[in-house]
Amino acid sequence: MAVSRRGVDVAELVRRATDAEPRAVARLISLVENDSPVLREVAAALAPYGGHAQVVGLTGSPGVGKSTSTSAIVTALRANGQRVGVLAVDPSSPFSGGALLGDRVRMQDHATDPDVFIRSMASRGQLGGLSAAVPQALRVLDAARCDVVLVETVGVGQSETAVSNMVDVFVVVGIPGAGDELQGIKRGLLELADVIAVNKADGDQVERANRAAMEYRTALHILAAGNPNWSPVVLTVSARDNAGLDELWTRVEERHSALEASGALHARRAEQGVAWMREIFEQRLLAAFKGGKDVSRRWSEMAEKVRSGEMTPTAAAEKLGRLAGIGEG
Ligand code: GDP
Repeated sequence: MAVSRRGVDVAELVRRATDAEPRAVARLISLVENDSPVLREVAAALAPYGGHAQVVGLTGSPGVGKSTSTSAIVTALRANGQRVGVLAVDPSSPFSGGALLGDRVRMQDHATDPDVFIRSMASRGQLGGLSAAVPQALRVLDAARCDVVLVETVGVGQSETAVSNMVDVFVVVGIPGAGDELQGIKRGLLELADVIAVNKADGDQVERANRAAMEYRTALHILAAGNPNWSPVVLTVSARDNAGLDELWTRVEERHSALEASGALHARRAEQGVAWMREIFEQRLLAAFKGGKDVSRRWSEMAEKVRSGEMTPTAAAEKLGRLAGIGEG
């Protein structure tokens, strides 16, 4: 029987998704996001369809212009007849609340286009959940025959590092910083970038944007000294005026083609598969142990002992570990 015990006809949903039917795509992503019991079935049904979409990550601090850039890129891709998916990944820290509101407003230009799938995914404070769910959502969009999937993430916390590990090409968006031009982008993030776009190069900011781009190039030159295979491109753009985004996309495609031709893309995706496996495994382990009767019963008691100073965090964690059957009895 095609209908699973839980009443979801996964095969039929996947078939409809491969016909790019928006409701089927949305439903599958919800199943993935909610860690549905039919997840394994979904993953198996999607497996034959993977590998078609170009997956491009876009990150940067709140306000640098990611949503404006994403929307303009989607417009350009659509003009080219390409089907596009957009996953907006929100780490949902209390400080970034509402960060995606701007997204939704800007994305309304595309809301009625049946060849654009837009979806926000929130981690509800748990990055682990996103690390397992986003790659699966990418597979859904891939199966829906998206030519390009843009993964937009707010550059706070660790989400950008996690997302850089799920995409083919990673674009970091910055703006000219105040004083120290490099403030616009965190240094650690530079090392993950394939392309760096200094946005808001318009009006009286053009000079500063050019200077910032020069400083990034210098910084990258130093960072790249030990790594001959890595040389990110730096360019200035104005998402507001739609200036430089064509070149940005050309550079993204160049990078994608180069990775593909050298075999590095294949290797990157293969390693991402392994990282994804580890992520799911660790989550399952954690859930199993934390949900175990003894551990969940004693968790608050141990937490209280740590708070009061009666036990050290190490001793309490080890005690919980023993209750879960890890470590020495
Ligand atoms: P996000 O938080 O990174 O997604 O940034 P948004 O795309 O929401 O943009 C934040 C603000 O910057 C908005 O007020 C935009 O209108 C503005 N903005 C975005 N791109 C540009 C640009 O290229 N030039 C200028 N001057 N403003 C921009």
